[in-house]
Amino acid sequence: MKYELPPLLYAYDALEPHIDAKTMEIHYTKHHQAYIDKLNTALEKYSELQERPLEDLLKNLSNLKVDEKDRTAIKNHGGGHLNHSLFWQIMGPRKEPDEELIKEVEAEFGSIDNFKKLFSEAAANHFGSGWAWLVRNEDNKLQLYSLPNQDSPYSKNHTPIIGLDVWEHAYYLNYQNRRPEYIEAWWNVLKLI
Ligand code: MN
Repeated sequence: MKYELPPLLYAYDALEPHIDAKTMEIHYTKHHQAYIDKLNTALEKYSELQERPLEDLLKNLSNLKVDEKDRTAIKNHGGGHLNHSLFWQIMGPRKEPDEELIKEVEAEFGSIDNFKKLFSEAAANHFGSGWAWLVRNEDNKLQLYSLPNQDSPYSKNHTPIIGLDVWEHAYYLNYQNRRPEYIEAWWNVLKLI
């Protein structure tokens, strides 16, 4: 079994002006595809791992019976594939509010505005490449933090709910070094909240 690029459910220009069509096209067809290709290469000689859910591999990274270079590749490219698959899904040209999630966020963070402020700060202050995350933790509670590179919340036994890609490839064409502007604009295309 080989991993494949999941369908994108909207056009490249559907998120404009907040995310431009060229950034979407390159991000989806080049960056995401590259994670998938390298993940498939890393798993080539481990047919039993190809049958297990990717989430399961990321939860059990240190226990996988694989070469160290393949363990690193599964972490980076497996994480890259799952992270981006979620990212495309939670964005869209129209809001589709998740009322249950909104209630839970309000209960945990006081208000949606406060949640957005804290999440935006985590994304803006993250040094270098990585993601800001809203996750469900091991106690079934909402939690937010940032992680470097393509590290997956699954590797902490957390379930990702909202992720914001703050790698420069996600915004550089349109925003250059202005990451905070990209973050502020991104709330317009996050469809859940
Ligand atoms: Mn990315």
